Amino acid sequence: MYWVRQELRLADNPCLREAAAAECLLPVLLQPKRGRVERPWWEQREGPFRRRFRAESVSAFASELERRGSGLFVCAEARAGALATLAASLQCSRIVATKLAGSDEEAEEQALQVACKRQGVSLHLLDGHTLFAGAQMAGAPADASRSFSRFRKGVEGKLAPAAPLAAPDKLPPLPALTAEVSKGLERFSPSHPFFAAELRQAQPYAHTFALHGAADAGQARMQWFIWESRCIRRYKETRNDPLAVDASSKFSPWLAQGALSAREVWAEIVRFEATHGSNASTYWLRFELLWREYFFWYARHHGTAIFASGGPGTAAVGPKAVDVGVRSTSVVDDASAGLNGERSTWVGRILEGLTAPQRAAFEAWTRGETDASFVNAAMRELRESGWLSNRSRQVAASYLAWQLGVDWRLGAAWFEYWLCDYDVASNWGNWGYQAAAHPRSDARPLDPEWQANAYDPDGAYRHRWLKQT
Ligand code: FAD
Repeated sequence: MYWVRQELRLADNPCLREAAAAECLLPVLLQPKRGRVERPWWEQREGPFRRRFRAESVSAFASELERRGSGLFVCAEARAGALATLAASLQCSRIVATKLAGSDEEAEEQALQVACKRQGVSLHLLDGHTLFAGAQMAGAPADASRSFSRFRKGVEGKLAPAAPLAAPDKLPPLPALTAEVSKGLERFSPSHPFFAAELRQAQPYAHTFALHGAADAGQARMQWFIWESRCIRRYKETRNDPLAVDASSKFSPWLAQGALSAREVWAEIVRFEATHGSNASTYWLRFELLWREYFFWYARHHGTAIFASGGPGTAAVGPKAVDVGVRSTSVVDDASAGLNGERSTWVGRILEGLTAPQRAAFEAWTRGETDASFVNAAMRELRESGWLSNRSRQVAASYLAWQLGVDWRLGAAWFEYWLCDYDVASNWGNWGYQAAAHPRSDARPLDPEWQANAYDPDGAYRHRWLKQT
């Protein structure tokens, strides 16, 4: 059995490689049904842009599996532990899955491990999201998770990401499923009730840049950015432009869903450098992938502490925040009753702890109605498109945490809901970094006016997003 999580691609998929020689293979995606009652944003976690993008990624992945003699099954269960029971009833000896960052994601892995043990099924958790394997990271300096530069120095020039795996031409057949065993399992089709509504929606972000969740679209974007346009050669100079589509790679939504693998991107950059030569920009794209890598291992290392108001193991040195404990994240759908309580309690308690002026300031920030026009443009772009450049993310985050003095975790939760490319480690890690809730952050408030003059000197970005008002 293959527990499909966030590696929605055929190429460089370690689970498919591991299962290649199996007698039969059942790929299963956990997707609990959504409740009928509309919930507030902080209980949902996943807003319309990401839901749509993920539905596209899942749908395309299911078609690719079908084409290779397999298929995708959807299980309306929230808890990974249920897979062990299913596996046992199928007389399946092994479950394969990839490891994810995030405390709830890890908790799911542990719960499945326990359930598998009980059922006599073996669980193989593989590295599928990162450049380096866990075994390679075991040799990294002990304090690498505390500081990006320690981490980078520990890996750069010392560790090489493994070559990406080729996509399989053929997959093991599906097992025979009796009606009793397949209860609660449904073969994926684009008309599946959970995905159909998302897939029917009009392209919500077409006004920003064409974004389609399929792995093929991620490959096409990679080909364009690296080989066809060669924008990679100017990336270091352009990456802070908040408006131009090709200013940065835009790989993040595919990387977040695993519709593109970090090792594939890395290998493609290296190939480009070998063909056309390297420069500061080609290096810088690899450098940014190391930030992603760093936050993954940082999140795996520190667990729930990355959600604490002061960050892992430190007293809060950044903006004063209401400390209501730690946040827990979940990879499974927000409609699962069991995990929702925790999430809503958590954000709800921060919201309740705000003073009336803080609450008003937070709400004005979410609507893009602050005193800072660059922040307003960013917040409207986020809500209308599900996307923000790294520069806009930094300025908006810094403004909430420092200038408005609102608990940064509310901002991180807001981003979690709206971002198309939300990734638990990169989002909460970067937010903590901006708010100085990180062991090595020296972040200080960013002056939004200075930032606007430096990165939007002609006001085109602000005009783009504020023009209606
Ligand atoms: P490029 O500039 O082209 O970089 C290439 C890749 O490197 C990215 O796709 C991404 O995978 C990685 N990368 C680049 N910068 C960072 C960074 N600072 N941290 C980690 N990885 C990086 N990134 C996410 O993928 N998901 C998030 O939820 C997320 N939330 C963020 C929240 C805040 C407050 C901030 C400041 C940054 C956040 N980032 C997040 C990091 C970064 O902003 C995005 O990865 C980047 O803007 C995506 O655009 P791109 O693909 O064009 O990046």
